Amino acid sequence: MRKTKIVCTLGPASNSYNQILALIKAGMNVARINMSHGELSSHKQVIDNIKKARQKSNMPCAIMIDTRGPEIRIGEFEKGKETLIKGQQFILTSRNVVGNNDCVSLRDKSIINNINIGQKIYINNGLVELKVKTKNETDLICKVIIGGEVSNNKSISIPKVAFDIPYISEIDKEHIKFALEQEAEYLALSFVSNAEEIKSVKELIGDSKIKLIAKIENAQGIKNIDKILEACDGIMVARGDMGTEIALDKVPLMQKELTSHALTYGKISITATEMLESMTYNRRPTRAEVSDVANAIYDGTSAIMLSGETAVGKYPIETVATMSKIAQSTEESIDYHSIDVPSNQDTISDSVAYSAVNTASFLGAKAIVVYTMNGVTVPKVAQFMPHCPIIAVTHDNMCYNQLALVWGTYVIKEKLLKRNYDMFKYAEECVKKLKIAKSGDKIVITAGSPVEARGESNLIKISIVD
Ligand code: PGA
Ligand code: MN
Repeated sequence: MRKTKIVCTLGPASNSYNQILALIKAGMNVARINMSHGELSSHKQVIDNIKKARQKSNMPCAIMIDTRGPEIRIGEFEKGKETLIKGQQFILTSRNVVGNNDCVSLRDKSIINNINIGQKIYINNGLVELKVKTKNETDLICKVIIGGEVSNNKSISIPKVAFDIPYISEIDKEHIKFALEQEAEYLALSFVSNAEEIKSVKELIGDSKIKLIAKIENAQGIKNIDKILEACDGIMVARGDMGTEIALDKVPLMQKELTSHALTYGKISITATEMLESMTYNRRPTRAEVSDVANAIYDGTSAIMLSGETAVGKYPIETVATMSKIAQSTEESIDYHSIDVPSNQDTISDSVAYSAVNTASFLGAKAIVVYTMNGVTVPKVAQFMPHCPIIAVTHDNMCYNQLALVWGTYVIKEKLLKRNYDMFKYAEECVKKLKIAKSGDKIVITAGSPVEARGESNLIKISIVD
């Protein structure tokens, strides 16, 4: 059973019911919809396809809606894309124009005021670099420093410039409302800089059970990581934008630090962007990419993500299968018994999680079965990286799909069992049915007791499978 989870970004190459079903079978655990592209009506269609496919496959698959965030994007081109050549002039304008090789419009009109002559501007995750030569009220007249392809709605990065745009734009508000209506399991928040921004989203979502992933992609987000981790359910190490917002050569260290920070807080971490980039066009990844996936797993990431590879790539299914194989083979080389993850949490359920994992390791248990109503304890158990699978049992549909993103966890939907005896008995049956354990093997069970209290996990039971 693979422990590291796989997030796939959907797009034209993978939006159909058949493709989504094939992605789930190949190993997709979370389907990510990037709200920077497309219309709500087509997103709705894709979400319906995901819901149908996960039902059909009988496997959980979380839906993640990824907001635009306060990012700055260019508009559209007449031909969809253009190739800029080093040394040429290229204008970014607040005028409403259809883009061509001379200019393109900016989706955020007000930013021109904050940009000075000499400023560097990156397009397409830094592949194209511009420098502002002159400006007027509506135009930034730039010189192309590094040429390359620019295409519709690409985000642009303007390092070290603070813009006074609100964290939640009107369009983000609409998208968040849409995520709630569609009962998506996760909301990924682009360009989170501080915990206040997460709090403002929490106010907007009210008592919804949707979980929040803060995308860390700029220097402010890195600086405020502790407060951000306290406020959210997980983070994404968004290396794409991070690579232009901070020095590119600092990204590997930040990736390691953010991943280990998330572990300390018992929160989810997703390593994102360019993990198997060359598979967008090729059937086989580069050796460097294989190492990148493996190293993220050695660092303790909860999940690994695919972007263009599955959204617009030629081989989405093969890419997921390849990623899954790399993950599985990497995990086989890790001695999880010897991993000692520090925790800075001190609740009863944190203590239960810590003890359950240590007990399982001590006894060589075959599984940790976690009964959960809201999924809170499961990531806490995952935090301590048990050698054996975590079997999460829940009666709640949203929780069932949500837990698909939690490291090391296999989720089962089952009617709510109220008596301890029934829970223990079902746990034994379950691990036998899954062929994880046989008669005589030990398993560790955790639950909140009494169930009616809907409190946190407070019980650990060790069973010898009948
Ligand atoms: P994006 O986020 O794909 O939405 O830009 C991920 C990243 O920046 O790495
Ligand atoms: Mn990004």
